[in-house]
Amino acid sequence: MNDRVGIPRGMFYYDYHILWEDFFNNLGGETILSPRTNKDVLNKGVHACVDEACLPVKVFHGHVDYLKDKVDYIFIPRFISIYRKEYCCPKHLGLPDMVRHSMDGLPQIIDPKVDLKKSNRSLREAIIYTGRYFTKSSRNILRAFDQAQDRFQEHIHAIHHGSIPIHGIDFDTDHPLQILLLGHSYNTYDQYINMGIANKLKAKGVGVITAEMLDTATTRYYASKLSKRMFWTHGQKIIGGAFALMDEEFIDGTVYISSFGCGMDSVLMELIERRAKEYQIPFMILTIDEQTGEAGINTRIEAFLDMLEWRNRDEDNISTYG
Ligand code: SF4
Repeated sequence: MNDRVGIPRGMFYYDYHILWEDFFNNLGGETILSPRTNKDVLNKGVHACVDEACLPVKVFHGHVDYLKDKVDYIFIPRFISIYRKEYCCPKHLGLPDMVRHSMDGLPQIIDPKVDLKKSNRSLREAIIYTGRYFTKSSRNILRAFDQAQDRFQEHIHAIHHGSIPIHGIDFDTDHPLQILLLGHSYNTYDQYINMGIANKLKAKGVGVITAEMLDTATTRYYASKLSKRMFWTHGQKIIGGAFALMDEEFIDGTVYISSFGCGMDSVLMELIERRAKEYQIPFMILTIDEQTGEAGINTRIEAFLDMLEWRNRDEDNISTYG
C-alpha cells in the first residue's frame, strides 16, 4: 500500500495544494485531503489550539485533527520566506511546532523549512528533505517536483487568464458592479469561515474578483509604489491587487476579510483604506473569528451593496467618505 500523506485544507493549502498533491503523487504517495471546513473541523480546531491564535490557525488544527488517524504522514511546511528579502507571518513559521505541542496522537509530520529570503538554495533542500520520506533517489525527487511545478505553473497561468476559477470563484466581467474580495487566501477562499461571501455577492448579481486572479508581475509592480517596501509576501499580493484594481478603475467597492487580532491585516487594511479614500472607492472590513454570526455578515453585505447601488444610481458617485 502507498504511504498516505495528509494535507490539511488550511493556511497555504489555498496557494499551493496543486503543487503539493502532484509532487506527492509523482513520488508514489497517496494524498488525503481533509474535507472543506465545517462545524466539526472548526470546533475541534478551537478546542485543540491556543486561545490567542487567529481563526485560520485554529481551523488548521481542526483539519489536522481530522487527518491524524487516517494517514501515515501529515504535511505541514514551515514557511519562513517565499521570496527574497520577504517574510511570512510568524504563525506560518511556527505552525508545525504549534500543532505538535497542541495535539496528541499525531503521525509523523513532514515539515520542510522554506526559507528563500537570501537565495533559492533552501528550496532544493526542502524538496529533497520531503521526497526522502518516499525514495532515496535525489534525481527522482527533483524530477517529481519539476513535473509538479510545470503543472502548477499551467494552473496559475490559467487562473490569471480567467480560463479556470480559483477555489470556485470565477472571473466574470458581465456584471454592472464589481467587488474586490481581499484578504489572506485562507480567509478569502475558505467558504465556511467567511460564510460563503463570494456566493452571497454573486447571488446579488455582483461580480467578484480577487487579488490571486491578477498575475504576480502586476501585483508586485503596484505594491512597489508604496514608499516603503512591503516585506510580507501575502501583503505584496493583497496591497498590489488592491492598488492595481483601484488604479485601473476596475472595481466599484472592496471588501476585506480580516482575521480578528491579525497584525498584518491591521497594517494592510490601513494602507488600502487610505488608497480607497483617495480613489473614492467604498471599502468595507469584515472581521471574522469563531464567534462571528452569519446574520451580521448578511446585514453588512446587504447594506454595502445598497449603498453602492444608490451611489451609482442617485448620487452621481459622490464620495462615501464625506
Ligand atoms: S497573517 Fe494574520 S491571519 Fe495569517 S496566520 Fe498570521 S496572524 Fe493569522
